[in-house]
Amino acid sequence: MKAINRRDFLKEGVKISSGTLMGANSPGIFTSRAKEETSIDGFSAVIPLPVQVVIDDVGWWSGRDGSKDQEPYRSGIQRNHVPADYEAIVALGKALDIRPQAAMVLCEWDKANILSALPSATWMGKSWDNSKWVGPWMEEAADIIRRNKRHFEITLHGVGHEYWTGNKFSRAEWADTNGTMRPPGEVEKRLDFFERIMSQHELGAFPSSFVPAAFNHGFGATADHSVSMAEILSRHGVNYINTPFHQMYNAEAVRYPYFGFDADVLTVDRGKDLLDWNVIGIPPTGVINGPTCGMHWANLLHPDPARNVEIVNKWVQLLGPYQDNADTMLAPDSDYFQSQLLYRTLTKITRTKKGIALDFKAIDDRSAAKVKPGFTLKVKSEGALRFRSKGIKIRSIQSKKAKGHFLYALRLTGMKGSDKASVSVFHFNTRR
Ligand SMILES: [Zn+2]
Repeated sequence: MKAINRRDFLKEGVKISSGTLMGANSPGIFTSRAKEETSIDGFSAVIPLPVQVVIDDVGWWSGRDGSKDQEPYRSGIQRNHVPADYEAIVALGKALDIRPQAAMVLCEWDKANILSALPSATWMGKSWDNSKWVGPWMEEAADIIRRNKRHFEITLHGVGHEYWTGNKFSRAEWADTNGTMRPPGEVEKRLDFFERIMSQHELGAFPSSFVPAAFNHGFGATADHSVSMAEILSRHGVNYINTPFHQMYNAEAVRYPYFGFDADVLTVDRGKDLLDWNVIGIPPTGVINGPTCGMHWANLLHPDPARNVEIVNKWVQLLGPYQDNADTMLAPDSDYFQSQLLYRTLTKITRTKKGIALDFKAIDDRSAAKVKPGFTLKVKSEGALRFRSKGIKIRSIQSKKAKGHFLYALRLTGMKGSDKASVSVFHFNTRR
């Protein structure tokens, strides 16, 4: 960015109004007093809430809800899945410049029937035979995933989604309906098999994110297990879990409004999805109230795969404003999402004569491991602004003019050692 020179600085002065911090329960948010919002000299600054798109139950080739026959619920639609259904995820990612999480179930991708060695993971048990789903569509879909890593993140969701004892299943794969984890040995085996099926198709490294099947999950250790699900996952490289807290066992132990740490794994509240799990071909409506836009694969698709794009476009329309609003943003990927959420929650913003001061003292060691990607600060003003930072780098500035005000998105990064940084704000327009 072009820094304002000293002469301009002296001539224009620093025309800012005094503001108020919005109370201890709104950290990360700073704004002028309402009556000053309209002042040419007023501006408001916010570390916006990131919204991450998470799409469950990706990976089935059959769409059929088989639950009445002790088969998985799958995606619950009346047709098979096709490579175009993977294109839909990529198209959403490209249109919004984000990397949606595809929470995948991989049993129907097993082309060597290795799952016969893990009978509790599928409805066929030891006689597991997946040959009917082995075909060229696998390579086509794998190719889409491999070529579009920037717009498709594989998230661990399950191998068979449920847990079979003999030929009956119970919900769900990783934990029962009380959130009690399955035996650790079973959990470990599933992680290994998920990885092995991924490598059958060269789908890349094991995921770093997890969505529990059927959202059955416990925060911390459950029943008489000595380790938590998060702890086991963490040994396999998972560092972030996304699940609705209203369905999570021991959610009351979560420390912050939208997230908690289980071992060193960030566990984030998914909240409520806008659509039911098996709704297909219907434009989404409603308001996203937290940091996750959760949906199921069917919700992004059309009964006719050639028309998937129509539904994808409706999601683009629904999500676009979250990027443009002052108080929210679409997370570009899940790493940035975690970083932004931590900065949003843990940064204290105060007003200074020159602009704003940022205090990162509340970012402890465990959080510090996650905040490398930096964060976005949004500044809203009636006039055009310039910025200069100290103690942190401004990597980029995007600006937009709409409805009579300017909205700036500053990408800040490179905070080193110090707990403090500042952003000076200069007005271009002076009206005296
Ligand atoms: Zn699921």
